Amino acid sequence: MLKGRCDCGKVRFEVPEVRKTVTICHCGQCRRSSGHTWASTHAPFEELQFTTDEGLTWYESSDFAKRGFCKFCGSSLFYRMNTEDGIGIAAGCLESPTGLEIGKHIFVKDKGDYYDITDDAPQIQKF
Ligand SMILES: [Zn+2]
Ligand SMILES: [Zn+2]
Repeated sequence: MLKGRCDCGKVRFEVPEVRKTVTICHCGQCRRSSGHTWASTHAPFEELQFTTDEGLTWYESSDFAKRGFCKFCGSSLFYRMNTEDGIGIAAGCLESPTGLEIGKHIFVKDKGDYYDITDDAPQIQKF
C-alpha cells in the first residue's frame, strides 16, 4: 500500500498499487501548475482511498481534463482525463520507498529553456 499526501495534510490517500514508471511532462501547462515538470504515476481511480479530502479541489485545466490540488497548501496532486477511469498521481506526493522509476519524458518540444534532460529515459516530442 502506498500513501500520499499534500504538504499540509488536508488531502491524504492510500492506493494499493500504482504504475511503476513515472512520466515526466514538460508542457507549459504542467510546468506552470506544478512549478517545474509534472512527474506522475497512474492508478485506477476507484482504487484510491481518501483518508481525508478536505482540501481537494479540481481545476478544469482544459476541455478534456482536470487537475486536483489542495486548496489550503496548493500542492499539485492529480491529473484526470474526463473520459478515463484512471488518475495521474504526482510522484512527489507519495511516501518513500515508492519503488518507482522514470519511464519517459513527454511534450519535450514544449520544455523550458532553463534546464536539460539528463537521464536516459525516452524523450517523446508530444504525447
Ligand atoms: Zn494541503
Ligand atoms: Zn503536461
